[in-house]
Amino acid sequence: MPAIAALLAAAIFAIDTFSSLDMAIAVLYVVVVLLSASTSDRRGLLVVAGFCVALAVFSYVIMHSDDYDLAATMRCLVSLAAITVTTLLCLDNQYATQSLRSQAALLDLTHDAIFVRDIGGTITYWSLGAERLYGWTPAEAVGQNAIALLNTVFPVPLTNIRAELFETGRWEGELLHTCRDGRQVTVMSRWSLQRDERGRPLAAMETNSDISGRKHAEDALHQTRAELAHVTRVTTLGELTASIAHEVNQPLAAVVTNGEACLRWLGRAAPDIGEARASVERMIANGRRASEVVARLRALARRDEQDQAPVHVNEMIDEILPLLERERLMHAVTLELALAEGLPVILGDRVQLQQVVLNLALNAVQAMALVEEPRRRLTILTRTEERPDRRCLVIEIRDGGPGVPPENLPKLFNAFYSTKKDGMGMGLSISRSIVEAHGGRIAADGIEQGGMLFTVSLPTSLPPKEHAS
Ligand code: ADP
Repeated sequence: MPAIAALLAAAIFAIDTFSSLDMAIAVLYVVVVLLSASTSDRRGLLVVAGFCVALAVFSYVIMHSDDYDLAATMRCLVSLAAITVTTLLCLDNQYATQSLRSQAALLDLTHDAIFVRDIGGTITYWSLGAERLYGWTPAEAVGQNAIALLNTVFPVPLTNIRAELFETGRWEGELLHTCRDGRQVTVMSRWSLQRDERGRPLAAMETNSDISGRKHAEDALHQTRAELAHVTRVTTLGELTASIAHEVNQPLAAVVTNGEACLRWLGRAAPDIGEARASVERMIANGRRASEVVARLRALARRDEQDQAPVHVNEMIDEILPLLERERLMHAVTLELALAEGLPVILGDRVQLQQVVLNLALNAVQAMALVEEPRRRLTILTRTEERPDRRCLVIEIRDGGPGVPPENLPKLFNAFYSTKKDGMGMGLSISRSIVEAHGGRIAADGIEQGGMLFTVSLPTSLPPKEHAS
């Protein structure tokens, strides 16, 4: 570029000095100034401009030093003015570009990955932090579609996120991105919307911080907790078995001893009916004790002493969503909530009911691990249903997984029925006990298009609608 500018300056000087054209040829020096503006710094540009002015004046002096010509003087002055104005504009432009560059460089200082995309999703700016996190250079990333490039997995449907962004101007949430080397990262993403002067959306800036490390630590903690819960369950089960054996064994031994004694009293030459009767009475008493022990242990296992309190079902579901989040993001499952408004409260044990919904939702998410992406959708719906005797509250948990073969449907709620490698097969069985202890019902049905629908209906304390005041 400097060589072209120099050649051009020489050509202009030659034509200006040695041709007889009555034109302000020297005006063309502005092209030399413009060419130099993109390659020179401030000082270089001033030197080039000064040189052009000197050449223009020099030509004028050579041509008109002995015969003064007003028109030629005016042409020279116009050329000098054009060179000066162009130089000032270029300097101003250089200054603005420089300050924009230094502002953009500030964004590169942050550890977060920052990029800007237009309203169609095409990347227009890609920071150094984004290059560090994802692996693509700005030249590779700019012009690409952000969602496709990063293979973004959203926690909720994208339409909902867009709606929030356009309404409030911002959105915040966890996303799953795939880097250039195929590595998956979980990021805390903050989106801000830029609008034009008429308020129309122009672009969105995404600031993403990598929280994969924290997530891994949480996963490890979750795993440890799950293992601990498993061990506790197995230990409890073991203790339960041992205590049943221990507590029931004693009355059973007493029954046998008394039975034998009874036979001895009856086997005498003169049977002692009184003693025999006393032995049988002791046998009956011990038999009763054994069944009381069993009843007490069963009550303990069922936790009969429930915490009865008013439960707002939608709030209770909202509370367990964070517990579901990890598994859901891991399997890239979209969540759809259809919670009816104005639901009546129910009386029950909130923690136990949460255990039921969590169990069903986790089963659904795990079942969808291997199906195609569009089918990986978990729907949690609440509604009321009128029954002849009372009003019921219904929770539906629907998935797009492979479903359950019809021949296995009747076994689904049996204890220890599991098709999972590490499954205990207790989840659905415990869920049914809890729902039934609340006076409700739980049902599992296959969906025609594939997947399962679990329906939990719980009685409300309200009478049916037609009788309600
Ligand atoms: P576990 O989860 O320990 O296996 P559960 O009682 O929770 O025990 O579930 C029992 C079995 O029911 C699971 O192993 C699985 O085969 C089946 N199941 C439960 N929910 C679903 C579902 N939404 N889709 C397909 N199969 C399911």
